[in-house]
Parts: sequence; structure tokens; C-alpha cells
Amino acid sequence: MSTLKDKHVVITGGGRGIGAAIADEMNRLGARITLMGRAEGALHSKAKQLDRSYCVQVDVTDDKAVQAGFDEAVAGFGPVDILVNNAGAAFSSPFVRVDSRNWEQAIAVNLNGVFYCSRQALGGMLEADWGRIVNIASTAGLTGYAYVSAYCAAKHGVIGLTRSLALELAGTGITVNAICPGYTNTDLITGAITTIMDKTGMSREDAEARLKSSNPQHRFIEPEEVAAAVTWLCLPGTESITGQSIPIAGGEVM
Ligand code: NDP
Repeated sequence: MSTLKDKHVVITGGGRGIGAAIADEMNRLGARITLMGRAEGALHSKAKQLDRSYCVQVDVTDDKAVQAGFDEAVAGFGPVDILVNNAGAAFSSPFVRVDSRNWEQAIAVNLNGVFYCSRQALGGMLEADWGRIVNIASTAGLTGYAYVSAYCAAKHGVIGLTRSLALELAGTGITVNAICPGYTNTDLITGAITTIMDKTGMSREDAEARLKSSNPQHRFIEPEEVAAAVTWLCLPGTESITGQSIPIAGGEVM
């Protein structure tokens, strides 16, 4: 089955974690994939595992670099059909200790990057009158969590952007949706566990259990589960689904 056959998919942060799982699933369905991110080595080693892929080294917080990156991607594989805004990073700190730099970094990678990349991908989608934008937000875009105020603010912003852009594009063949994972088994969560251990003296087992307890299924989400939902939104039959924020979180938010 090759239902994404020849679609050009751009995945930001595609070198590892959730982005890499999305690349695997879309590769399985026949897509041509441009991976974007900062670490060249991770991008190249992921690209080698895919059938038709291209890597572009881009920091999504840099508007000019994003523009150049998309120019390169379009020169390589043609206009972008599907954009997965996956690049992101979480910073945790009590609010009173969040300085302007931490705040701006969280907004820059998690929210500004989505704006810059969507703006670059949209031109070709509008011309084709077809496209899919899938933003990897978070349950932190739907509810609050203590000690991650900047991340939560940025992810709530991504959901607002998703809703607004979906309405603006409703007269076209382009849909815009957000996927909202709960704690997912990637480097990002390994970092969160280490931070909890450092700050509280908890064992690894207890720190993991604390994070898992927020999920009613008492487990971490696997990156492949997120990838399956992202891919589904890009397949035929989902034309009416737009502006939605879909939790993949074992019932944590509803
Ligand atoms: P990882 O830390 O494993 O991967 C993050 C990815 O984002 C990397 O590929 C990284 O590549 C890329 N990235 C980070 N900063 C930038 C930047 N400035 N420019 C370009 N790329 C960047 O995390 P996950 O796979 O877990 O996270 C993917 C997305 O899922 C994020 O948006 C995250 O917020 C979201 N999410 C994750 C959850 C989790 O529990 N893991 C839960 C909910 C949402 P590089 O460093 O090479 O640039």
C-alpha cells in the first residue's frame, strides 16, 4: 500500500524521536521526505534508513535560515505537499526563575518555528490547492503543567495558530491540525526524568513513575503511536478534519 506515494513531506526535527518515527511511517507509505534539524549527523543517519530522502540543516528559530532551507527542499523534491512541524524543546523551571532568554528560546523553537515553516510551505500548497500541515503540539497545549510555563504558553500558541489557519484555509484543499502527545518515550522525556532526579533526589524508577502517573494508562506513549496519528491526517478520507487538536495521551485530557 503506497497511499502517500510521491508526496513531498517536510518533517522538522526529523532526525530523532517523534520526528524520526513519523519519517519511518511516511516512508513506508511511499513519500519523499525532507528531514530538517540542526544536528547534521542525526539527519544523515536517519536519511540513510529511508528510501527517498533529503536532509537540510536548519535552525527553525531563524526565519532566514528557514526560508533558505525550504528553497533547498523545493529545489530537491519540488513543492511541499505535507509539512509536519515537529521540532520542539522543553525547558523546566519555576516561573520566578524563568529569565527572558529562557522564555524567548521556548517561544522561538516551539511557536515561531511553526510560523516560519508554515509560511514557507504554504505557497506551493495554495498553488496545488492541496496540502496538509500537522503541528506536533502537546497536552501542554491543552492544559497547564507546573514548572513548564514557557513551554505551555508556546504549545497553547501552536493550538491557537492551528485553529486560526485552519479557518483561513477552509476554502482550499489544505487542512491544518495539531497532534497533542502526552509524555512520549524520546530523548525529551529522558531529559525530564534526569531533571526530576537532580532536583528532587528521586530514583530513576520513581521519577519515571511520577511522569507515567499523569497518563490514566500508566505508561509512556511510543513515538510510533504519534506517527500513526500524524500519517492518518495526511491520508485520503480526512478532508473534513481541520483545526483539530488531537490528544494521544491515554485519556489524560478529554
Ligand atoms: P527530541 O528531543 O527527541 O527531538 C526534538 C527534535 O527537534 C530533534 O530532532 C531536534 O533536532 C529538533 N529541534 C530542536 N530544536 C530545534 C531547532 N531550533 N531547529 C530545528 N530543529 C530543532 O523530542 P521529541 O521527539 O520528544 O519531540 C518532538 C516534538 O514533540 C516536540 O515539538 C515536542 O515538544 C513534542 N512533544 C514531545 C513529548 C514527549 O514527551 N517527548 C510530549 C508532547 C509533545 P536538532 O537537535 O538536531 O535540531
